[in-house]
Amino acid sequence: MSSQPFRPGTRSIADSNSRRALRACNRRTFLTRRAAFSLLLIAPLAFPLGAQPGSRATDPYLARAKRILSQTPLVDGHNDLPWRIREDSIARGNVDAYDIRTRARGHTDLDRLKQGMVGAQFWSVYTPGDYADSGYARVQLEQIDIARRVIARYPDRLALALSTNDIRRNFKQGKIGSLLGLEGGHAIENSLGALRAYYDLGARYMTLTHNVTLDWADAALDSARHNGLTAFGDSVVREMNRLGMLVDLSHVSPATMSDALNVTQAPVIFSHSGARALVDVPRNLPDSILRRVTTNGGIVMVPFVTGFVSPAVMLYEQSTRPVIKDLEAKYGKDTAAITREITQWRVSHPSPRATLSQVADQIEYVRKVAGVDHVGVGSDFDGITEVPQGLEDVSTFPALFAELARRGWSDADLRKLAGENFLRVFAQAEAVAKRMQAR
Ligand SMILES: [Zn+2]
Repeated sequence: MSSQPFRPGTRSIADSNSRRALRACNRRTFLTRRAAFSLLLIAPLAFPLGAQPGSRATDPYLARAKRILSQTPLVDGHNDLPWRIREDSIARGNVDAYDIRTRARGHTDLDRLKQGMVGAQFWSVYTPGDYADSGYARVQLEQIDIARRVIARYPDRLALALSTNDIRRNFKQGKIGSLLGLEGGHAIENSLGALRAYYDLGARYMTLTHNVTLDWADAALDSARHNGLTAFGDSVVREMNRLGMLVDLSHVSPATMSDALNVTQAPVIFSHSGARALVDVPRNLPDSILRRVTTNGGIVMVPFVTGFVSPAVMLYEQSTRPVIKDLEAKYGKDTAAITREITQWRVSHPSPRATLSQVADQIEYVRKVAGVDHVGVGSDFDGITEVPQGLEDVSTFPALFAELARRGWSDADLRKLAGENFLRVFAQAEAVAKRMQAR
């Protein structure tokens, strides 16, 4: 989850990525339709005599990508379907009403997962760190409940996965190994007991923070209070190691990343973060941390979040901040009025588009600095409202692998990116847990 719904009483939306949620979806639809119409006009002129480069039916790189993804499970590190269902304007958290056997309103449904050749999926059980109507744990339990009911509702296509063995077995059976990724350490409410209970309910990674700094860990998008992790934060990391829950450092500050890397005995993951050298936003990793991921043996799973992969989108989003601040000052908690006005503003100030090629650039940069054994994919579909051109929904993953094949990636390296790197990391974390529990 990169964006959060904009609701009264939350932190300044200009300080988080929630402004993205204010963007009207209908503008994207409009652009897509317009783009499609332009293509219809141009295509016959540009590619006469049937010589259409990259034509999907004949693209040898796409054929290679599909062959690889049929043999190696593609493990996507982050998909926000459970929160998408909770917030859906019609289904409103009703798992039966949000039927993914039919074409879903969001980025994810069963047909498109099949086209996208998704082999295993971390379903994010995201909860907002600034949700004030009750303790975080209630919302967390509700999100785990939604995710587990989605998985249970489609037993011919999805299967709860709790281990590397589960992922491989589910893949052989033609099912999507479905893992739970807990987004936001606030959900443990400073309790290792709650952490253990979440593990027992199926959570296999936890981002130490979301966008809010906690009593024990600094977040990337909030002010630093501890210069990283506190002593209790260290004990959270150790307990996650002991349980076999992956330590996810997406969303935390560089100091927290560094402290966690000092403490952890298992490889860490970044379930949806890119490289700051290409797009300098706090949610991406500095090179110094990328190099430490190599030593740690962990993995950076690159997201499709447009503002994290496109410098132009990043600058555009920066330009919206003062506009949003002004609207907040003008309307206070009247979020409907703010949404209406920002939507109008965006129509007259359209955002540039990020591209599939820029996502590939991020993947290649992580490969260059951290190494080919330490890169993966963590889309953030259904947690984003804007998508890169060419990566519109979960059906599009093969196109990304085709692009990297075109850039010279070997089959072995594409397999690592797809799932072998993640499976190695998870297996090592399982081994560390076994060792620690035996003590
Ligand atoms: Zn997120």
